[in-house]
Amino acid sequence: MSSTPIVSNFIRSMIDADLASGKHSAIQTRFPPEPNGYLHIGHAKSICLNFGLAQDYQGKCNLRFDDTNPEKESEEYALSIQDDVRWLGFEWNGEIRWASDYFEQLYDFAVELISKGLAYVDDLTPEQMREYRGTLTQAGKNSPNRDSTVAKNLDLFTRMRAGEFADGAMVLRAKIDMSSPNINLRDPVIYRIRRAHHIRTGDKWCIYPMYDYTHCISDALEGITHSLCTLEFEDHRPLYDWVLDNITIPCHPQQTEFSRLELHYTITSKRKLLQLVNEMHVTGWDDPRMPTISGMRRRGYTPEGLREFSQRIGVSKSNNTVDMGVLESAVREDLEGKAHRVMAVIHPLKVVITNFVDGETTSREADFHPNHPEQGARLVPFGREIWIEADDFSEAPPAGWKRLTVGGEVRLRHSYVMRCDEVVKDAAGNIVELRASIDPDTLGKNPVGRKVKGVIHWVSVADAVSAEVRLYDRLFTVPEPDADREVDFCTYLNPESLTVVQGWVEPSVQNAEPETRFQFERLGYFCTDRRDHQTGEKLVFNRTVTLKDAWTK
Ligand code: ATP
Ligand code: MG
Repeated sequence: MSSTPIVSNFIRSMIDADLASGKHSAIQTRFPPEPNGYLHIGHAKSICLNFGLAQDYQGKCNLRFDDTNPEKESEEYALSIQDDVRWLGFEWNGEIRWASDYFEQLYDFAVELISKGLAYVDDLTPEQMREYRGTLTQAGKNSPNRDSTVAKNLDLFTRMRAGEFADGAMVLRAKIDMSSPNINLRDPVIYRIRRAHHIRTGDKWCIYPMYDYTHCISDALEGITHSLCTLEFEDHRPLYDWVLDNITIPCHPQQTEFSRLELHYTITSKRKLLQLVNEMHVTGWDDPRMPTISGMRRRGYTPEGLREFSQRIGVSKSNNTVDMGVLESAVREDLEGKAHRVMAVIHPLKVVITNFVDGETTSREADFHPNHPEQGARLVPFGREIWIEADDFSEAPPAGWKRLTVGGEVRLRHSYVMRCDEVVKDAAGNIVELRASIDPDTLGKNPVGRKVKGVIHWVSVADAVSAEVRLYDRLFTVPEPDADREVDFCTYLNPESLTVVQGWVEPSVQNAEPETRFQFERLGYFCTDRRDHQTGEKLVFNRTVTLKDAWTK
């Protein structure tokens, strides 16, 4: 359940108007990824928008793979995208759609355009193409092939398909307007020759339709009412409309653009994320530092948290660069009521309880969540030796220190009040151990005659389970790592984005399955790793997010 009420936006207003006027009786959206990489947080926004609108308006949302670039696409990517959509909590309407399912129809529509004198085969070289296209300030000029006869164009296009020409030897272009101020309308290429193995159609085709031509027709064939895309396609809308206006197709979806989501301290470009993977700056697409959906999942983010985030950032046409803190607080708020609270020590310092009496000093039962007793309870074993967090002790504490110091007392969470009596050091002067005593009369009650302010977490040495704990920090050291085109964004990778420590966790988590989320009291939210955690054998935790916002500092 989202804690943010649904706020209207310009897309909702348009849908409301279309339903009210009877233009549509139901809405149909689609999410159209290209299977050329793993999805990232920006795609999550688009998924939540498209599937979310369909849900809210009792409409439908298709999942369609825009598979028109065979060299870059793979089955692995297509599968990961399906996983991500489902994990986010959405289900697509009917079967998965593939633009390649429409290749035959797309070809027929191209023949229709040629027959109407609205498309022609051109064999200008790429350099000539560039030269003829003109510039932003200068009109383009017509290719000598622009006025070829329909018969000649039909013949050439048929032979292009039949494989008579080399890759790149010629293209099919829409005949629109070489002097249009919108360069997208200067006779754009709609088909190219490319001998590449396609993940779905194999070697059946050696010509492939271009994205702009494919997308609008795929939308129309599926009866999409509202085709939502990011702002960089605004200038392509006239082409989207031109294609649909000039072929025989009963449906004309409305393309509407919204701004891309950008997140500070990370990047949202599949190409650049691929570079991080290929250059092994991360361990893979699902490295928990990656802004990919699979990376965020592995880190411990929840689908509810991501959906809530996308609700909070909203949809508009203006710049949508968001602080990581907004994402993290949505995740944190979701985990707050759900994650069991347990104790773990990640920078351990040993404490020996000198007045521990076996049989008299006892363990206590504690709820997994202070506000949700229904989540159950476990025994928190106490022992003669305990681990505490090294930085919860200070020999020379600053003013206002509430944690442990020599001669001072703290409450051990869910247990006794403890006083530190002695510090044990090695020859080099490092603290290796503390000697302490408990007040046996403080289990479940306050000490008499004095106030103990600090509470620290701990685990019993004899009962604790060893765990690998992975602490993540921002992936880049600057808010906009790819802002400067002259500088490789990898220059700004944070060398300290991952710190691995060996810590101790209380025994109740021993049998946690992979992908179980916990709050380690006072430390943050952690999630057992999907890949490396082995239940009961090798415990591996990823820090999902700290308890407080560490970004605004
Ligand atoms: P490419 O550069 O490979 O085209 P892309 O990020 O545009 O990458 P697509 O697979 O084409 O990837 O995107 C699928 C859908 O997700 C598109 O509708 C696109 O507009 C949307 N989308 C992609 N990036 C963002 C983003 N940062 N914010 C919001 N929506 C996005
Ligand atoms: Mg794209």
